[in-house]
Amino acid sequence: MDSYLVPLGVSAAVPFGGRHLSGLALRLEHDLLLFDCGEATQFRLRAAGVRTGPLKAIFVTHLHGDHYYGILGLLATLSLVGRTDPLTVVGPEGLAKFVDATPAMESRQRPFEIEFVELPPTFSSGVVFKGDSYTVRAARLDHTIFAVGYRVDEAGSPGHLNVELARKLGVVDPVQYGRLKSGEAVVGMLGRVESGEVLGPPLRGPSFAYVTDTRPCAGGVQLARDVDLLYHESTFLDKDAERAVVTGHSTAREAAEVAKEAGAGELLLSHFSARYREGDAFEDEARTVFPACRAAVELQRYDVAASRNRITNANGI
Ligand SMILES: [Zn+2]
Ligand SMILES: [Zn+2]
Repeated sequence: MDSYLVPLGVSAAVPFGGRHLSGLALRLEHDLLLFDCGEATQFRLRAAGVRTGPLKAIFVTHLHGDHYYGILGLLATLSLVGRTDPLTVVGPEGLAKFVDATPAMESRQRPFEIEFVELPPTFSSGVVFKGDSYTVRAARLDHTIFAVGYRVDEAGSPGHLNVELARKLGVVDPVQYGRLKSGEAVVGMLGRVESGEVLGPPLRGPSFAYVTDTRPCAGGVQLARDVDLLYHESTFLDKDAERAVVTGHSTAREAAEVAKEAGAGELLLSHFSARYREGDAFEDEARTVFPACRAAVELQRYDVAASRNRITNANGI
């Protein structure tokens, strides 16, 4: 498995029936990213066997307590275990004040630096964080208070090298194939060959979108556009669609419609209301609109680009 995510909590608003509050770990090649940080997130990370050493940034969607009250406990533990690497925290305006106002959490007492990237209520969309091999964007969602969703795009790779064509053009040295792949021109037996002559189109890297809490909206679709894996809230079933409107949430069917409109590869449903016991009903409802869908299971690992791998295998490439 390359990059993968682990849902740490899939419950809406209150912990219920063994489900925990919102949180999701995304493990990339070198870095760990956290999306939301509900109470007990640090315990769920432990239970999932996800180490916090590589944690680079925490992305908070909105300031409803079930999405960020766990950040204090996590930061306290990181301090106690001797973390010195800086950490970035991205989220709505007010987050820095929340942390800094806590005794023993003030910036001068922290053993590591926290860079807060605060998004004002006027924020619409844009890049909020860059890692060495990935970019994180945010876009405004449609909830009862200011909320944003996030999207991670890992760096792509050069297109496939057409070795047969390169040979015809007089390039036979494997070292030169490597240089062509990295975008350089080489001089072969028949003269100069540009990499663009023998390389296919660049390959897009894996991508993941985290869209919660929200009504179906343009920002959600924007984040989910052609994404490999879309993690979308589905607090309610369609029979309670009116509750979804009133509380600023989505139904399973609506989440599936977002996935379909955006052309997502695969949909993971989450943020289930305590009024429902089973995840099956959510899957069943969403699959009528978008078949490549599952209800997220806490602590299970999901390959970000699994849908892409399936397509690739089906084509036998
Ligand atoms: Zn919520
Ligand atoms: Zn909320």
